[in-house]
Amino acid sequence: MTNQSDSFKKIISHAKEYGFIFPSSEIYDGLSAVYDYGQNGVALKNNIREYWWRSMVQLNDNIVGLDSSIFMHPTTWKASGHIDAFNDPLIDNKDSKKRYRADILIEDYVAKIEAKINKEVSKASKRFGDSFNKEQFLLTNPRVKVYQSKADGILKRMGKSLENEDLADVKALIEDLEIACPESGSKNWTDVKQFNLMFATKLGASADTAIDLFLRPETAQGIFVNFLNVQKSGRMKLPFGIAQTGKAFRNEIVARQFIFRMREFEQMEMQFFIPPGTQKEWYEYWKEKRLKWHYNLGLGEGNYRYHDHEKLAHYADAATDIEFQFPFGFKELEGIHSRTDFDLNNHEKFAGKKLQYFDPEKNENYLPYVVETSIGLDRMFLAVFSKALTEETLKDGSTRVLLKIPPELAPTKLAIFPLVKKDGLPEIAKKIVTDLKWDFTIAYDEKDAIGRRYRRQDALGTPYCVTVDHQTIEDETITIRHRDSMTQERVAIKSLFKFVQSKLSLSELLKKL
Ligand code: ATP
Repeated sequence: MTNQSDSFKKIISHAKEYGFIFPSSEIYDGLSAVYDYGQNGVALKNNIREYWWRSMVQLNDNIVGLDSSIFMHPTTWKASGHIDAFNDPLIDNKDSKKRYRADILIEDYVAKIEAKINKEVSKASKRFGDSFNKEQFLLTNPRVKVYQSKADGILKRMGKSLENEDLADVKALIEDLEIACPESGSKNWTDVKQFNLMFATKLGASADTAIDLFLRPETAQGIFVNFLNVQKSGRMKLPFGIAQTGKAFRNEIVARQFIFRMREFEQMEMQFFIPPGTQKEWYEYWKEKRLKWHYNLGLGEGNYRYHDHEKLAHYADAATDIEFQFPFGFKELEGIHSRTDFDLNNHEKFAGKKLQYFDPEKNENYLPYVVETSIGLDRMFLAVFSKALTEETLKDGSTRVLLKIPPELAPTKLAIFPLVKKDGLPEIAKKIVTDLKWDFTIAYDEKDAIGRRYRRQDALGTPYCVTVDHQTIEDETITIRHRDSMTQERVAIKSLFKFVQSKLSLSELLKKL
């Protein structure tokens, strides 16, 4: 077992033990790749969603919200291309009977080459010390150059074969690279087949009149079909955006990475409608703006990178992923896609209705182009949670487990403790809770020794603990203990609201954007 998988296991078990994430229907042994958010998980998830929503809808006067249904008219998915093209290439290993996504097997192979490059870089950086120039090293080191060109060649060939639907070549590539089944080590593969990821269901009571429906695989189409409704009712002028968050469903072939790849998950998507011809500049604009949104959380800028697509989806003329360093390596967290007028154009054709925008300045009708930003809320949760979980060895040799969640996103903002359960201290502590609970999520705890109470809150990610002691009775001050540094300071009760407001409110985080 590698260290990496050990740390990932710790993340999963911490999430369960502290009420963040449970396997779905666990008493029936769970349901594969479906998870439930517990009492603390739902609070963190809501806060992340709120950070996204307010940064999009509240801070941009040309972006509005929407909440469209999960069920949509079935022709929607014909028009969007999902019935014909929303497929993943699957391959089975004949010996282990395990099923894989062929593209992911190949990408994992490439990731191993990239790991070798990184190893060379860290070796060289140790050797050269301060004078090390990473960019130059990557461009000139002969070994790195060989690795890089091998990785590029593989991705290029895969991209081309997938684009041309040449599945035989995808299999040939797996064989040429001698990729073995990670479970069994066997190289005995079936042919590669396409597999449609949409879940089908039925609407209507009787079998003969029921209509076949799909659970939406993305929230975006609800935005496209409502484009004119929103534009007309809101008298919106281009450029403008429509944002929505909601559940999406995909029958993923391989779903073995906790909440990274689920069958039911939540998306936060924004479609930005623009005049044709301006897509390049808006694509660059949103690429930068979204990365800034991520950086603002302080999880470490080195944990993000762009990955521009070689193989473009059926709807896109440019696409990039913002990748994040998850416990299992750099993987897609968010997609930014220049979708042209592909969707509106097809909905016009399939619905037989005009979806054109009348541009009052140019005095003409046209179909807008679209730049989309699309992020998985659950993946964002995993990004925050996995970077937050920390194990520290303290001076006395004991270990402390804490969640360094960005304070503004923490499920509980403040925990209030009376030092002892008598002498009027609980009453003062409860009064503080009553005063602050209108604006912040506050916990009250009077059980166990104070040190244990601190540790409990550390493990939940509560940024500050407030203790009411005997001095409080005399001078109306309390101590505030900081989660990350464990330092304490004494402040007046009456300044507490301001303190919390300045350190913990989402508005402060948004102002830094
Ligand atoms: P992947 O290549 O990982 O399958 P994708 O390119 O199919 O992802 P998009 O269709 O671009 O993903 O969806 C936008 C976002 O939705 C992704 O960046 C990701 O954060 C999230 N997402 C997609 N599929 C899942 C899933 N099965 N579980 C959780 N989140 C998902």
